[in-house]
Amino acid sequence: MTSPHAPAELIMTGAAVGLVAAGITEDDFIPAAPLAACRLCGAIYQTKLHRDLYRSRQMGYVDPPSLLMKVVDLGTKWRENHAKKVHTAAEIEEFTRTGWAFTPEAAKVLAPFGIIPLGIMHPEIEDAMFIADRKPDLTKLEGGE
Ligand SMILES: [Zn+2]
Repeated sequence: MTSPHAPAELIMTGAAVGLVAAGITEDDFIPAAPLAACRLCGAIYQTKLHRDLYRSRQMGYVDPPSLLMKVVDLGTKWRENHAKKVHTAAEIEEFTRTGWAFTPEAAKVLAPFGIIPLGIMHPEIEDAMFIADRKPDLTKLEGGE
């Protein structure tokens, strides 16, 4: 089974701006911090530990090995559980054949979080990103307290 998370195209993260003005603090979500997201439905995962790792890097520290391992492990487990719980193997295969970075549904959810595909975009993905809310929907974010 192909992973729904391995990017078929280059994807940029961290592109969200104005989140604080929208009432989303760095305790809720940090666009530039490590995260995991689903290319099929746009579910997104970032824990406090992901944000702690980002803050440590911002301070110029070498990644604390235990924190780095924990973050990688949490992301891997989330991806596996999400794919099993939410998507069928057939659904994942069908999506993989499109060669798209995201489904339009996922693009609409992920764009406000600052996660956007950089490759040649299918018009349906462009349209989805165009009509997406400017403010990310925190109900789609898993891993919060
Ligand atoms: Zn999903």
